[in-house]
Amino acid sequence: MTTFEFATAGRIVFGGGCSASVPVWAASHGPRALVVTGRTPARAEWLVEALQHQGAEVALLCVGGEPDLAFVSGGAELARRRSIDVVVGVGGGSAIDAAKAIAVLATNQGNPIDYLEVVGAGKALVNASLPLIALPTTAGTGSEVTRNAVLTVRDRRVKASLRSPLMLPRMAVVDPVLTYDLPPLVTAATGLDALTQLIEPFLSVRANALTDALCRDGIARVARSLERACLDGHDAAARADMSLASLFGGIALANAGLGAVHGLAAPIGGMCHAPHGAVCASLLPHVMAANVLALRGRPGAEAALARAAEVGRLLSGREYADAAVEWLRGTVERLHLPRLAELGVSPADLPAIAGQAQHSSSMKGNPVALSVDQLVAILEAAS
Ligand SMILES: [Zn+2]
Repeated sequence: MTTFEFATAGRIVFGGGCSASVPVWAASHGPRALVVTGRTPARAEWLVEALQHQGAEVALLCVGGEPDLAFVSGGAELARRRSIDVVVGVGGGSAIDAAKAIAVLATNQGNPIDYLEVVGAGKALVNASLPLIALPTTAGTGSEVTRNAVLTVRDRRVKASLRSPLMLPRMAVVDPVLTYDLPPLVTAATGLDALTQLIEPFLSVRANALTDALCRDGIARVARSLERACLDGHDAAARADMSLASLFGGIALANAGLGAVHGLAAPIGGMCHAPHGAVCASLLPHVMAANVLALRGRPGAEAALARAAEVGRLLSGREYADAAVEWLRGTVERLHLPRLAELGVSPADLPAIAGQAQHSSSMKGNPVALSVDQLVAILEAAS
């Protein structure tokens, strides 16, 4: 019998318009709020005003792109100085990751790099985080229900995670209406990140019955709604499907791990500033093809191949692993997603990316071990 453990955000609220209640929920933790948002402060204006209307004292931090160690250390320092009671992260994955890192570093002192995986000592965070409410405005990362924050370590050109069960947000508020204005290309790239975060946990060596149920449902939602959401951003049913798929992907990856797409995306993200979703989208069809090929040559891989075939059925109605690969190739092409070379990944960097990817935490979930040569071949095919 398999055993597993499962944890997610303390409370999840989903629905069109539910974000309007965030100021009331935030106020229940105390009067001093820190709002962390992306590079456009105007997007969080409604929230800051509503919090102030509740009588809250509000500090606002904007993260321009993916957060680095200096930004979150400064944010934690500010949270301590201002005796912040609650942190609200509103935006895409970067803003919510920044909010999660700030909330937990505010209560865990010492040099932040010591807590980082891979580049740091991976020291355990011990103190409970400040209460955090996560409010995603994209449908892709699922960061509102994950237990890590991806941080850039500038002087080493790498990204590494701060990870702890203590980082699961107190509350995840998923309001699909907040995603209506995302442009088609961002919808496509973030939506394919969500799909990757459903396929990789489903094929992961750590998959379990609970995450499987979420992945099956989420993959079917992406299959029917991704292109519709790209064509018409105000298609309420399609946007709701994509927000749910992103939420389910976040829950699944936090409990079942990921695979080679994210294993490769981590070092790529450290080397160039390409958006994470676009990197995952460019890699996904090629990683799927390479995994299927590698599994076919391996005795005892029948169960993993059956799962790959099931992905084919969920995406295309045809229960073949190759149908999954074809569907992914066709979709990435039709939605005009850029190739790795267009995202600024240089051919000279491919061996180094493949080498680093083998040590990334995501790679441990991949259903089959891939050699550096196999990883380089994937990167070449995606370039
Ligand atoms: Zn991702």
